[in-house]
Amino acid sequence: MQQRKAPKASGEGVTEQEASPAAVLPRTATARDLLEAEEAPDQCSMTPRKKNKKRQTGAGERRCRPVLNLLLVAFVVAVLLAVVLLADGGRVPAVWIAAARAQLRRGSGHAWLPYARNAPDKLLGGLLADGVDGETCRSRHESSAYRRSTPRRPSPYLVAKLRRHEELQRRCGPGSDAYSRAVQQLSAGRSAVDAECKYVVSVCNRGLGNRILAAASAFLYALLTDRVLLVYRGNGMGDLFCEPFPGATWLLPPDFPVAGLANITVDAAETYGNMLKNKVLTADSKEPVQVPALAYAYLEHDYGDGDKRFFCDDDQRLMSNIQWLVARMDTYSVPGLFQVPSFAEELAALFPESDAVFHHLGRYLFHPADHVWGLVSRYYRAYLARAEQLVGVQVRVFDSEQGKSPHVLRQITSCVWKEKLLPEVLAAGEPVITPATGGISRTVLIASLRPWFYERIKSMYWEQPTASGEDVGVHQPSHEEYQQFGRRSHDTKAWAEMYLLSLCDVLVTSGWSTFGYVAQGLAGVTPWVMYRPLNFSETPDPPCGRDVSMEPCFHTPPMYDCKLKHTADTARSVPHIRRCEDVKWGLKLVGPK
Ligand code: GDP
Repeated sequence: MQQRKAPKASGEGVTEQEASPAAVLPRTATARDLLEAEEAPDQCSMTPRKKNKKRQTGAGERRCRPVLNLLLVAFVVAVLLAVVLLADGGRVPAVWIAAARAQLRRGSGHAWLPYARNAPDKLLGGLLADGVDGETCRSRHESSAYRRSTPRRPSPYLVAKLRRHEELQRRCGPGSDAYSRAVQQLSAGRSAVDAECKYVVSVCNRGLGNRILAAASAFLYALLTDRVLLVYRGNGMGDLFCEPFPGATWLLPPDFPVAGLANITVDAAETYGNMLKNKVLTADSKEPVQVPALAYAYLEHDYGDGDKRFFCDDDQRLMSNIQWLVARMDTYSVPGLFQVPSFAEELAALFPESDAVFHHLGRYLFHPADHVWGLVSRYYRAYLARAEQLVGVQVRVFDSEQGKSPHVLRQITSCVWKEKLLPEVLAAGEPVITPATGGISRTVLIASLRPWFYERIKSMYWEQPTASGEDVGVHQPSHEEYQQFGRRSHDTKAWAEMYLLSLCDVLVTSGWSTFGYVAQGLAGVTPWVMYRPLNFSETPDPPCGRDVSMEPCFHTPPMYDCKLKHTADTARSVPHIRRCEDVKWGLKLVGPK
């Protein structure tokens, strides 16, 4: 095998930093020391004191001591370094450079450190409202110190809309008089065409990734239609996340008068599609029609043509009169909302960058609750914080027999090697390469239900040297073996791992998986997608491909012509929508050209 150069950082927005002289400071001078030194300039000024001034002692002097120590250490280190440099023909030990460059990861300040006191852009460009109590949700306040800053800014229009929506949630949400009146009307079976507040209730029974994408889709629908968003709490949604709207709850109260929301199927009489079929509702009527107080917008994978009319203008006009809409979704239906002509103008104003919809909505809505944040932050600090580049690999196998599949293992290694995301390993007998000067240090985070892939990849990078001479650390937080429902600790780990993946610089994901979609969207990273094999006894060729955007894929788009009222591929006519790389009939948003 030929000697290869250390690969350049290839993640989106990841740049290699030059090794500056400061970068060769060894670990003795930690960034925390430097931070303290920066914070005490007055007491430790190098200007000579006036002789006649009484010498200050005590706290001021104690504060100076670490800085003086630091300078002393720096001096000794500089001398040692000069000796080493001269002795080694001018070559700087790569391990020093890697350590110091890891300190400098993500910018010249120290704010990237998990324990940085002044995290940059805590409010995410205005996405988050200011003034929320720091005690209520640690991740909301701390996460920006763990995440690289995103080049994507929310539009001022979106920011203003979010503030107005928060006000709506407070005015009409649970606990308000308006909410009590709306519930009374619903209990009495009265429809309220001119209702002061309208609601969309998001219900999803699937895995956590699906639930997150469904809630984000329902939220965008709420923004577009001025409805209050309420989330069905029956599957951990109340436990895993902080409340996103300051001063209001997004959780559907347990005493909501309609039971069995989670059990609705495509056959239920209250679905919008069945109401059309049974002539309880008619969207074409020019006359004002009597509408029910509540209807189910049934948008799950098995939805029928009547339900698909949710994505038609006439039907949206009719639905706007229904005070309570229960949205049964199991995936990311945002691309479908982009297909509704009457939403187009508003969506363009909200999201001038149409490939960053979930990136903004996801970071706005989903803040890990404190117990989840504990898992995320402790793991990050213990295993990931020192890496210069984090490569996240999500391995989702949908078939139990693939849990130890050498074909999947080969797919992972072929993908990361072919795309130069990680260095290749040398075959036995090949000459070992000395670590390249200034090479970057990479750490791999593997998320998977199964431990086998992690064990193999970790052993591979331990037992064999790499072609670039780099050392690669490999970590996997948990291996739960199989998907479990209703177990708090299982969901907590799943959410923590999704979030940890979203802190990576580069992502390799498994096609079809909403788990990966959430991570890539929160991260703001366009992933390399590993294709789902058609034949389990083969490794797909190519093993993976760069996705067309960071947006999640809408697995079950309507494919319905609203005018002709039958199945048709209408997506082609909508700007910024493309077929997904992984699910061939799926749709996803891409950026404006
Ligand atoms: P999808 O099925 O891949 O689209 O993703 P979902 O998140 O909707 O459902 C899969 C569920 O399986 C997750 O919610 C977790 O409960 C579990 N799961 C799948 N992959 C992982 C993983 O890498 N780590 C953990 N902890 N759980 C996982």
